[in-house]
Amino acid sequence: AFDVLVVGGGPAGASAAIYAARKGIRTGVAAERFGGQVMDTLAIENFISVKETEGPKLAMALEEHVKQYDVDVMNLQKATGLTAGDLIEVTLENGAVLKSKSVIIATGARWREMNVPGEKEYRGRGVAYCPHCDGPLFKGKRVAVIGGGNSGVEAAIDLAGVVSHVTLLEFDSALRADAVLQQKLASLPNVTVVKSAQTTEVTGDNGKVNGLAYLDRVSGEARHVELEGVFVQIGLLPNTDWLKGTLELSNRGEIVVDARGQTSLPGVFAAGDCTTVPYKQIIIAMGEGAKASLGAFDHLIRSSAG
Ligand code: FAD
Repeated sequence: AFDVLVVGGGPAGASAAIYAARKGIRTGVAAERFGGQVMDTLAIENFISVKETEGPKLAMALEEHVKQYDVDVMNLQKATGLTAGDLIEVTLENGAVLKSKSVIIATGARWREMNVPGEKEYRGRGVAYCPHCDGPLFKGKRVAVIGGGNSGVEAAIDLAGVVSHVTLLEFDSALRADAVLQQKLASLPNVTVVKSAQTTEVTGDNGKVNGLAYLDRVSGEARHVELEGVFVQIGLLPNTDWLKGTLELSNRGEIVVDARGQTSLPGVFAAGDCTTVPYKQIIIAMGEGAKASLGAFDHLIRSSAG
């Protein structure tokens, strides 16, 4: 059995594995795809102390760093269930069962997509999901934000300070964001809000976004806005379906953790985008992974299992 089994090989999982291995305890990592969301990222400019890097390059560096240590890396392994007990069991899709004295869940999240033509094609070439990450790339340009919930309205306010113009599109007839955010949004001169708008296509030419087509759901008319960027803000889905009913999840499906990364199950810790910790970023996921790992180590030395 492992002392620490990490599920997930993104920034949070890699960091957790390194912190555990440095304690000289038996450490394993099972990941569906080592690198996680970082593999889908082009430019990264906010990983402090590294001025600029690319996703696959950072993912490779994560893997190399983990492999410096005696860590059993099980890549392309998807966890499908977790059972509590003196030894915690993690079941994999291939039927294997891994046993460990403590488990750190770092299965991350994925952005909800619009599923319209052009979205996949122009991903990273105008279609973006993270204003903190990609906002500055659109300095002085025109962008749209899709989604009028808190994250969409926050993104529009944030982007309005960087880009030349923001068009916020909401499917419903009203925005769902908190009133104070809506008031702030309404006070900004370079933001247009379009309600009852159903995005139908991201258009482009020469491999770059040049506009957005939508249907006015009231008049039934098709419209098109010219712009250079589209930020999709219709939800971040944590990869926690496999844990439903085994530990406490928030109403958004995020794993509820305390300040040490401890979940509602003793010996089970969690870190990164799959948890209730706000602001989903690489640097935050890494810090949380380190924290959860130290939390797990603390648990091991205090329990008979250690
Ligand atoms: P993830 O990176 O999502 O990793 C999750 C890991 O768990 C993966 O290995 C996955 O395969 C695995 N996994 C999932 N389910 C299972 C399962 N059931 N069993 C086993 N393994 C599983 N952040 C920044 O700070 N700067 C940026 O510039 C930036 N740009 C981004 C651009 C894009 C396009 C995207 C999508 C995200 C970007 N982010 C950026 C956000 C950043 O990538 C995430 O915050 C970060 O990767 C979260 O790390 P994580 O380890 O928590 O999760």
